[in-house]
Formats: sequence, structure tokens, C-alpha cells
Amino acid sequence: MQNTLKASVTFDGVGLHSGKPVRMKLFPAPAGHGIVFRRTDIALGDTLVPANWSLVERSPLCTRLVNDAKVSVSTVEHIMAALAGCGVHNALIELDGPEVPIMDGSSAHFVRGIMKHGVARQSQPIVAYRVKKEVTVTNDEGARATLKPSDRLKIEFHIDFAEAAIGRQTRSLDMRNGAFARELCDCRTFCRRADVDAMQAAGLALGGIPGENAVVFDGHVVQSGEGLRHSDEPVRHKMLDALGDLALAGGPLFGHYIGERAGHSLTNTLLRALFGTPGAVERVLCDPIMISRLPGQGLVWGEIPQQRRVA
Ligand SMILES: [Zn+2]
Repeated sequence: MQNTLKASVTFDGVGLHSGKPVRMKLFPAPAGHGIVFRRTDIALGDTLVPANWSLVERSPLCTRLVNDAKVSVSTVEHIMAALAGCGVHNALIELDGPEVPIMDGSSAHFVRGIMKHGVARQSQPIVAYRVKKEVTVTNDEGARATLKPSDRLKIEFHIDFAEAAIGRQTRSLDMRNGAFARELCDCRTFCRRADVDAMQAAGLALGGIPGENAVVFDGHVVQSGEGLRHSDEPVRHKMLDALGDLALAGGPLFGHYIGERAGHSLTNTLLRALFGTPGAVERVLCDPIMISRLPGQGLVWGEIPQQRRVA
């Protein structure tokens, strides 16, 4: 059966790109509602923005949703990953600004906030999407993203950076049994020093504070405040982003995702190819065996990484 939140929860933070304060409130929603954002700072027109792949606007740095009335919500990937990883299918997310708060650059605050009260089971079966045919997309920079048929969600990622402190990293994870919360949810956004300087010169990432909400790599040097949370934190964060971007399918996905130096834009191109290829995906109602393989199933509070104190 579908799940929603047991209670509403509020997150206060800043937007990574705007640098402005933003309050985000998550509310329980009825079965069949899905995940929908609502901009409370806009008075007129359609302020509802459903979390769906078809509303994603081309944006290299984050995932931005835009509705027909041109109302947008940016940087949705980390909250989408948290909701998918906790098995929440229905929620209304109110925002008083254009961007989801960045918090510490990971999904850990969101996972802890959602699981503090837990999820409530609803009365309708879970609608999921099962990959039937392999679909691959590539871009001009040689990145590649693939979805293959699988009886569960598996996320595999490969990255290769010139920065010595990142280098080549590879990881693959079966997302069952709370694996997201245990292995990925505390992994933070990262970037290269040169990218930070270029973004801030272009008026982006104004809320970015190295070591506080992003890990910055400069050759051998890691600016992190508390050190790395995992030795391969960057590739794990890419997997977190992939879960959040795949959650825009509109329901849990049963498939094996492989990202090779992929990003938000390419994962969205992959979903567009999946839903645009006849016979590549089917909509299914989850039976008990499928439910037992969903990312949020079996998640235990004691396994969620707790807030760290930074000296
Ligand atoms: Zn991210």
C-alpha cells in the first residue's frame, strides 16, 4: 500500500544558488496524490508543481521543475531522494522561495525529519514502473546513462575526475532494505574549486559554503569541515542524485540504472527516452514481493546517520 508522512515537518535553510533563506514544509497527502510542490510566495496563477520528469527544464547544475504557468522549483533532487529512500509516495511540499534548502548538501536532514515521525500506510496499492527494455543515452562529453530490466532498483555509478582527491570511483547498490539511508543519504554535494569560482562569478552557488553545504576538491586538498563522511563520498552523492532524479518517474522504478559520469540532465534524458520508447516500461501495481524490494522498506531509525558535531 502507498505511504504518506505521519506528520508534517519543517526545514529552514538557504537556497544553494540564490543564497536566500527558504522554509520548506512537508505535509501528508491523500493516496494517489503523488509528490507535489507548492510555491507559497506566489499569489497568482497555478502555484502547484508536480514532481514529474516531464516538467524538468534543461539545467546542468541541479534539477529544476517548471509548470505550464512558468512557476519553478529548483534543486529538488535531494528531497526527492529522501522521499523515495524512505518510501513516501504522497506529500505536499510547500516552499516560500524558488529553491529547496540545501541544508548540509546531503539528504540526511530530510531523512531524519521524515523518519522522526515515520510514514503512514494508506488504502491504495503502490503504482510502480518496471523497465522492460534496455535504454541508453549519451551526451557530447562522453557521459552515458542506462536503464536495464531488473526485479528491484539497483543504482551503479562510475566517475572519473582529474582531481587527485576524487579520481576514479565506482559503486553499485541494491536499494532494498533501507540501503539509501544507511549508505548514501549523508553524502554531500561536491565540486571542484575552479567550478566554485566560475559559478560564483556567474552569480550562481551564492549560498554555497565550502565545508558547510558542499565538499570542495582542489587537487589533493579537500575542503570539508569534518573530513569525508565516506572515502568515496563523491560517487555516493552521484548515486543519491540519481535516486532523486529517477524518483521523478512518478512512482518507484524497478530497473538497473548505470551512470557513467552522468548528471541530472542526462538522467532526465534517460527517463524521457524510457517513457518515449514503446514497450520500454510498464506501469504495475506492486504485489507483496515487489513491495519487499522497495527502497524505503525495512528502514530502521538506528541505521540513519545522525547529525555530526564539527569542532
Ligand atoms: Zn546533489
